Amino acid sequence: MPLESEIKAEAIKLGFVVCGITTPAQPETFGAFQSWIEAGCHAGMDYLARPGSLSARENPASLLPGCRSVICVGLSYPPPEQPAPASRSGLGLIAAYALLPDYHHVVQAGLEKLAARLPGLAGRSVQSKVCVDTSPILEKDLARRAGLGWIGRNSLLYAPRLGSYLFLGELLTDLELLPDASLQGDPCQDCRRCVDACPTQALRPDRSVDARRCLSYLTIEHRGSIQSDLRPLLGWRVFGCDTCQAVCPLNQAAPTSASALPVISAHPDLLEELALSQAAWKAKYQGTPVLRAGYAGYRRNLAVALANLRPEGAFQALQAALEEELSPDLRDTFRWALEQLQAPDVKTKS
Ligand code: SF4
Ligand code: SF4
Repeated sequence: MPLESEIKAEAIKLGFVVCGITTPAQPETFGAFQSWIEAGCHAGMDYLARPGSLSARENPASLLPGCRSVICVGLSYPPPEQPAPASRSGLGLIAAYALLPDYHHVVQAGLEKLAARLPGLAGRSVQSKVCVDTSPILEKDLARRAGLGWIGRNSLLYAPRLGSYLFLGELLTDLELLPDASLQGDPCQDCRRCVDACPTQALRPDRSVDARRCLSYLTIEHRGSIQSDLRPLLGWRVFGCDTCQAVCPLNQAAPTSASALPVISAHPDLLEELALSQAAWKAKYQGTPVLRAGYAGYRRNLAVALANLRPEGAFQALQAALEEELSPDLRDTFRWALEQLQAPDVKTKS
């Protein structure tokens, strides 16, 4: 069996659902990425605009001396529940990927095992480097070039039959491997469902996302207050957003089972969550991506969701939280939420 096939077979044995190979040449979308940065679409993610980060994204080979090939893999995770619960009163919503143990560790561990098997497969010592989400690499573009799938209008990678509920990872190696061909065609054709369904019109015509408007960014990465005109559009989301994936017809046949199972509920009770101390919150979400929002960011999201959903007891709970809160940003959000609860009920877009 050719070495490339043996490597892919090992990746599948390790639990990855797709595996392809590409070169470390400059990703085709690097120019578009630069324009995205120049337009400010990276919002507060300043690390993306740093010179070292840009040059690594332009030249993936710089991440590993002697790099000759990039092995791209994907791991499936279960799609969000369909349909959403009929009664949403008082319940928040956490994005599907965050219900599992932190995927960085899972993908990293799988790729480390694959890296450890390369010398045995190749019959020589092999230099390699594992990259997951935190490495400066245009992973969706490399995965597309490695034949794993296409980029949809919502900017995500779609693998044939598997859809977009995938965690991606890369293994850079000094092995000279035969690259795979990228897939032809456009799976979106004239569909625009994700663009139309995005609550904040964050999807751009070039298939990128304006993070300044994206609820996924705003509820997870953003620090400080969320701009007030976007708060009602959060609806019941307290961590992440699956809307542009959930409406996609390409995801309707996505497998519902995956190697990892959810370890937390997608629908936390907002009032119970607001009552959690920092230590209790950390203990509850230990090992999951939810910690990424930080305690303050998560409470900010809770306050906005409480204002949007208006469950019984929200006013008293927010008032008590405001009395104890020292952070000026959080105090502002709590005050805003209390004002919303005093105003007449207006239905928010979800
Ligand atoms: S994650 Fe949500 S807010 Fe962000 S682009 Fe998709 S639908 Fe829009
Ligand atoms: S919803 Fe339609 S346009 Fe958006 S990614 Fe899916 S197929 Fe493409």
